[in-house]
Amino acid sequence: MLKVQSVRGTYDLYGVAKRKLKKVVAVGSATVEKYGFEEIETPIFEFTEVFARNLGDTSDIVTKEMYCFEDKGGESLTLRPEGTAGVVRAFVSNGMQQNLPIKFYYSGPMFRYERPQKGRQRQFTQFGVELLGVETPQADIEIISMAYEFLEKLGLSGQVTVEINSLGDEESRDAYRQKLVAYLREHYEELSEDSKNRLDKNPLRILDSKEDCDKAVVENAPLYADSLNESSRKFFADVLRGLDNLGIKYRVNNRLVRGLDYYSHTVFELTTDKLGAQGTVLAGGRYNGLVAQMGGGDVAGIGWACGVERLSMLLDEDIAPVRPIAVIPLGEEAEDKALEIAYNLRRAGFSVEQSYSGNMKKRLIKANKVNAVKAIIIGSEELANNSVMLKDLDSGEQKNVAIDDLIKELQ
Ligand code: ATP
Ligand code: MG
Repeated sequence: MLKVQSVRGTYDLYGVAKRKLKKVVAVGSATVEKYGFEEIETPIFEFTEVFARNLGDTSDIVTKEMYCFEDKGGESLTLRPEGTAGVVRAFVSNGMQQNLPIKFYYSGPMFRYERPQKGRQRQFTQFGVELLGVETPQADIEIISMAYEFLEKLGLSGQVTVEINSLGDEESRDAYRQKLVAYLREHYEELSEDSKNRLDKNPLRILDSKEDCDKAVVENAPLYADSLNESSRKFFADVLRGLDNLGIKYRVNNRLVRGLDYYSHTVFELTTDKLGAQGTVLAGGRYNGLVAQMGGGDVAGIGWACGVERLSMLLDEDIAPVRPIAVIPLGEEAEDKALEIAYNLRRAGFSVEQSYSGNMKKRLIKANKVNAVKAIIIGSEELANNSVMLKDLDSGEQKNVAIDDLIKELQ
């Protein structure tokens, strides 16, 4: 028998849930467009190597979570697990290096094979931004303030904390990695199996581990800040000063490293304590080496992505659809008139609900069900003198209005 259900970790979106999701994306788009970001849409699947660029990549996404498949031509393809790699791939394959800086935003479905739970799905929506070609801290400040404004516009800025850290440049990263590995080796037996495996390949990821045994070891690990070289230190100080200047509150979190392996300098997350374990609603950072990894030359990048479902779960109120006007014809001859009035009102910009059948009482009940503001009632008497009965469904008041005056009256 056909299994009539959606795949585990995937959902049908409609009603309130879809309205909230749409609102998050609409507010996000309106916000970032003011900063000069333009929408880009890249394919939902790419060649696998767009996401898994090198064998040393031990991020969860690449090692465990990707939906990879071979197509009929034998190509290894992957459903995109995140947005940045696809945007950077598009940047390189379309030769956009001549027009820097480039500012893009995107929204759409991402796919990760993860254990589904609250705020964690196998298909979910991300809204994100990427700024390519700016090396200075102004970009970091602008990108973070843009994220903050976005959440403010959603009415959520009071519920989130901005956490920030610096991974420094390559030299600082190498210095820190050495110190960290030396420390972790002393505590090898206490680490989780995953972390033991990561120790050689990507030790920084251990800082990000959610396992209690790892957390206990990480507690006393060397601090990243102590390994930053002079220029990385200055870069970070400039970013923080910029945020202070804008009045954006943040918390420096020395343990913040982020899951993907291509970050450098600034990394940040906007977190809430309202969603349990899945508290990160937006995350991002600088990825100065990524464009080069894809063969696009030395182009700096910075961006963030948010979990649209996680954000929409924080919006407590339903977003009511526009209140329509109900058109209620009584009797067969009035039906044609009703269609004509509905058509003309819609063309004039009004939202109109046509009630398809039933007597006056039934149709009024339906009008209330769609939360109509007004009802336009067309009986035989009204029909005869080219007018309608306009009823205010909140106050119950009603009056006779000539059809020619209807639009003016409703405005
Ligand atoms: P987490 O630590 O929760 O696994 P992540 O580091 O894997 O997050 P990113 O790759 O940075 O997440 O993605 C950015 C945002 O996308 C996250 O902060 C989160 O809000 C959202 N997100 C990530 N994975 C999922 C998922 N499986 N379901 C729903 N939202 C997700
Ligand atoms: Mg994850």
